[in-house]
Formats: sequence, C-alpha cells, structure tokens
Amino acid sequence: MITRDDLAAQDAADPLAPFRNEFALPDGVVYLDGNSLGALPKTVAARLQSVVAKEWGGDLIRSWTKHDWIELPARLGNKIGDLVGAARGQIVAADSTSVNVFKALSAALQLRPDRRVIVSEAGNFPTDLYIAQGLTGLLGRGHELRLVDHADVVGAIDSDVAVVMLTEVDYRSGRKHDMAAITAEAHRHEALMLWDLAHSAGAFPVALDSCEADFAVGCGYKFLNGGPGAPAFLYVAKRHQHDIAPALSGWMGHAAPFDFVADYSPAAGIRRQLCGTPSVLAMTVLETSVDVLLRVEMAALQDKSAELADVFMTLVEQECSGCGLTIVSPREAERRGSQVALRHDEGYGIMQALIARGVIGDFRAPDILRFGLTPLYQQFTDMWDAVAVLKDIMATGAWDRPEYETRAAVT
Ligand SMILES: *Cc1c(COP(=O)(O)O)cnc(C)c1O
Repeated sequence: MITRDDLAAQDAADPLAPFRNEFALPDGVVYLDGNSLGALPKTVAARLQSVVAKEWGGDLIRSWTKHDWIELPARLGNKIGDLVGAARGQIVAADSTSVNVFKALSAALQLRPDRRVIVSEAGNFPTDLYIAQGLTGLLGRGHELRLVDHADVVGAIDSDVAVVMLTEVDYRSGRKHDMAAITAEAHRHEALMLWDLAHSAGAFPVALDSCEADFAVGCGYKFLNGGPGAPAFLYVAKRHQHDIAPALSGWMGHAAPFDFVADYSPAAGIRRQLCGTPSVLAMTVLETSVDVLLRVEMAALQDKSAELADVFMTLVEQECSGCGLTIVSPREAERRGSQVALRHDEGYGIMQALIARGVIGDFRAPDILRFGLTPLYQQFTDMWDAVAVLKDIMATGAWDRPEYETRAAVT
C-alpha cells in the first residue's frame, strides 16, 4: 500500500526537487503532458525579451555576426549532442522533425542506391511514414516501405534493405527499442539506421555515437522544453557527412552562402544539412531550455522517471482496480520510455474529464490515455493527486458527458 505520506517523504528526499521551481507551472495543475509540449523554464522569457529588444531591436541585422545568430544551429546542435551522446559537429538544430526525416531518409537512400526497401513499424509516428511515402513517390524508383510490428523489426531486415527507420520510444505505448542491438542488426545486413528520438532526447541517456547510429532526428518541443513548434534536430554520423548531396540544397547549407553564386556546392560537415535561414527567436528559446537540461545528469532523470512511472502504475492498480483501465506500457523500466499509457474504450472522455480537473495528459486514438513523466518538474505526490482524480472520475462516471464526446482538433 502506497500512501500520500510515503510520497511526500520521497519528495522531501528528492535531489531533483529544486528544479521544479525553475519552471512556470500554473497552480492547481498536475502537468503530465511534457512528452507532447514541455513546460516553460522561467529563464526563457527574460532571454527572449533580451534577444528581441537588444539584439533584434537594437543591433538589427548586425546581430547575425555580433550576437552569432548565424552559429545558432550548429552551437545548439552541439549542446543537444551532449544530451544524446553525439560528439561535436554531428547535429544541427533546424526545421521540423518531419523535414529532418526527409533529409535523413533521402540521404540514406542515396547512400544505398542499389537497395529498394525502407523498414519501419506500422505503429510508428505517422509523420515519419508519411514522409517516407512522399519521398519514395517523388523518387519514383519503386522503393518499398516495409511496415512490421514492434517485435518483428529484426526479422524484417535483409540484404534488400537500404535503411531501417524507427522511433526509439513508441509514442502510444511507451515501449522502447534496444537501439544498440537493432543498429547492429541493420549494419550486419549493410543497411543504414535512422532513429527518431522525439520521445528520448532530454528524457534519458541516449548513446548515438557509441551505438553507431547513422542518422537521427528529434523534436525540440517535447522533453527539450523548446516551446510550441520549436526547431527540431538532425544527426548525421561524421563518417557519412561528406558523401551526402543534400536533397534540400538550400543556401544556408552552401559552402559560401554569401558569395551568391549560381551553383550549389555543399558546406563541409553537418552544415550542409541546413536549408534556409534559422528561426532565431525559436532557437533562442530552445537553447535556453536545453541549458537547463545540461545542468542535470540524464541518468538521474531516467532513474526518477522510472520511479515516478512505477508509483503511477502501482497507484492505478491500487486505487482504480476494476474500473476497466489497462496498463499498456511495459512494467520493466528498461523497456519503457518516460511515459505511462493506459487503455480504455472511453479514453477520450476520461482524458477530457481529467483535464477539466487540472490533470493534464493527452489522448491518442483509438483508446490510449497518455501520461508523460518529466522528473524535473514533477513530484511523487503529483502521481497520487493525479490518480486520486482518475479514481473519482471512474467511480462517478464524470467522463460520460455530451461535451466530452466531440473531439477537438488537437487531442
Ligand atoms: C512528435 C513527433 C514528431 C513531430 O514531428 P513535427 O515535424 O515536429 O511535427 C515526429 N516524430 C515522432 C516520433 C514524434 O513523436
């Protein structure tokens, strides 16, 4: 039996507890959706205000060099590299995750011109699959997108495969792939490996270099707390950078953008993966948020996330047994990302009722209630308070209201 007092004691002993005060969180809210939109670090507003007023307002166009705006994508890329186990010069912050999937996938197909298969998961985040469909349609060379279930990925890799494209943590269930093992398996068949780290970066340790990934992409607005629509990132292993002729050959990836010559020639290294002008204000926000994360050990985040998840799942069993909720996420911490997913046929209405009472998670069709764990700004008692509201909603049927039946544009 877990009691709220047990959890209060755990909060008092938690070395990460002081970080909570570094985030702007509204009163009366238990925020369990940092895996979809990370919370706002308090340092962001002042930093953004200064870039807007002093740099943009005061120094105007001179800021590109005076304040090093032009270096932001590479500088921020290196900082993100520290969070995901990538040595310098292999990551840029740029564009959206979707656009970076296009860049990575097109590069991978270029590096394996004689192969026609892209392996991915049927349950992968749809945008990754949509981009693959669009790209292969554009190429018109008969590529096959081979979609298999989570457990069948390894068996689907053979000598026809150009690239394996997977998301490390399943966005619905929270199930986690073994990055090192699958990357090794792809390489055994001379296929390339593209990882989507949307639910990994900033949540727990990732070892891109040591598992010898070829490409990776990731999202700025989830666990990196970069704000709505934050720039994403792209990793290209050093060994491939020189061999790629970027399909999105924009001027920011040119060897000499300010020579204004008519012919494209790519910049050295990872810089050729840049396309257009970086979004300076958005990158400023993301950099400020990443600076907060750089002060914590990713392993410490992972440990607390595992404990929070364990408490949450134990409380769901203890307090809500018999109310029809099934725990979908793996119980073993090593097989799970930083979220807990529950299943219920009335999941949408239940989530709306939770949100109405200040417990903010999200719903993923067809029937998944998703609760993100973000140890920097969550307490153990938050788990109790969230499950207490869930228990009440299930006991009273408070989810069963007409206003919870219509789905909003964003769920
Ligand atoms: C959130 C997410 C994305 C988002 O892509 P955008 O281009 O930023 O909209 C991509 N892939 C995965 C796996 C995600 O979870």
